[in-house]
Amino acid sequence: MATSFPVLGFDIGGTKIAVCLGTSEGKILASGRVDNKERHPDDVLPELVAMGKKLIAEAGLKNSDIVALGIGSPAPHDIPNGMITTPTNMKKWVNVPIRDYLKNAFGIEAYMENDANAGALAEWFFGAGKQCRNMLYLTMSTGIGGGIITNGHLVQGHNFLAGECGHFSIDLNGPMCNCGIRGCYEAYCGGRALAMRMQRELADKPDHPIVKYAKGNYDDIDLVCLEKAVRDGDDYACKLWDEMCLRNAQGIGSLINIFNPEMIVLGTLAWAAGDLFMEPMFKYLPQFCWDVQLKSCKVIPSVLKRHIGEYAGISVALNCLYEQGRFQPWQN
Ligand SMILES: [Zn+2]
Repeated sequence: MATSFPVLGFDIGGTKIAVCLGTSEGKILASGRVDNKERHPDDVLPELVAMGKKLIAEAGLKNSDIVALGIGSPAPHDIPNGMITTPTNMKKWVNVPIRDYLKNAFGIEAYMENDANAGALAEWFFGAGKQCRNMLYLTMSTGIGGGIITNGHLVQGHNFLAGECGHFSIDLNGPMCNCGIRGCYEAYCGGRALAMRMQRELADKPDHPIVKYAKGNYDDIDLVCLEKAVRDGDDYACKLWDEMCLRNAQGIGSLINIFNPEMIVLGTLAWAAGDLFMEPMFKYLPQFCWDVQLKSCKVIPSVLKRHIGEYAGISVALNCLYEQGRFQPWQN
């Protein structure tokens, strides 16, 4: 196969879907977005096809020039059958055979992978993790999603459900997680869980700086409001932030001991908050993993940052070609 060839990617999110035409070398040829907020797949799927075809035409290409397409999909899903099943943030997408729909619409081979795994592949092929053989990626956004690369391959697991790095319990008596397990890493550090905690704990404090940063609207309280209050030096915010950094160190340190990675790439929170997050997390990290593994592991924020969705879908396609021996990353 030629060293550079085009692939098409779809990164499915609950509010928007990123569609991207890129090359196997990571050059983005054209990209667009399709609105997916509370919409039915019968309306969204034809728009995905129209957007994909528009991007292909804009690049002066034909469908038959595209070697494969890849889809990053939110869980839960049925990866072997290419179905989105019952995602919590996309209530109208029930048992949608998206992979075969897109495969038939474009007439090219199509592959699907968990969205956090797709993010891990994106950082591995085109971001911070180039050339790594052992790396982890954590999304660190509304939830703690994860993707694991071990010995130069994405770990998919028996049911293609491996890499759920946010859902192991770190405290028997901890808060109940969205997933039904008590004390998950995500229940302490996911953006959604932290927002709900702040809404609850500040319910009778409408004058609190965090509530003010949300313009008085409790539903808009999020990690950005928390970060601003921390930078102001608010006591409650600083205490909560410190606990969140400690719990992240506990989660990340455990993963370092289990996987002995050479790199852990951290998503949204790490690149958005920077040293405000990284410094206290690094301070606590030695409590939770052995020295040898820690010293040989780089823990760094995402390089692709908010553009990761553009690379995620094409990386899913490329990983399947890589596993078939049809694509070799980092040739340049
Ligand atoms: Zn959980």
